[in-house]
Amino acid sequence: MITNRLLLHFPNTMVDQPIIYRLVREFDLVVNILKADINPQKEGSMIMEMRGTREQHQQGMALLQELGVQVQPLSRTVNRIEDRCVQCGYCTSVCPSGAIYLETPGMETRFDIGKCVVCGSCVQYCPFKAMEVDLGIAVR
Ligand code: SF4
Ligand code: SF4
Repeated sequence: MITNRLLLHFPNTMVDQPIIYRLVREFDLVVNILKADINPQKEGSMIMEMRGTREQHQQGMALLQELGVQVQPLSRTVNRIEDRCVQCGYCTSVCPSGAIYLETPGMETRFDIGKCVVCGSCVQYCPFKAMEVDLGIAVR
């Protein structure tokens, strides 16, 4: 069995399509939705884990491609390089899962790797390049 974490982008014409249902029903994939931002008439995005055999993954990915869904594989881990972090707190405003948060009363920025859904936002926006994605693991 292979488990991959994926970021999907849907065009606005597709947000009401039963895509996840089809992945489960047609290919017997196990899908765990970690975060979804789906609004009628707008583009949507979703972070999910997909588990199945290699063949099931290939079939599922082929369906997503056929439907025009953009798929971005996500690494499984994000690391913080402590000696680069200046505790500016900016990453707390872009983290969608609460994995980075301000701890009171000291107002220090904490990183809870267990809550990280590996969306990559902190990596993109940290001004000091203190957050780093491990790109070693991707869709196989
Ligand atoms: S944005 Fe970067 S430097 Fe600022 S608190 Fe977050 S990890 Fe640290
Ligand atoms: S990658 Fe960064 S912004 Fe995204 S969930 Fe993990 S800690 Fe939060």
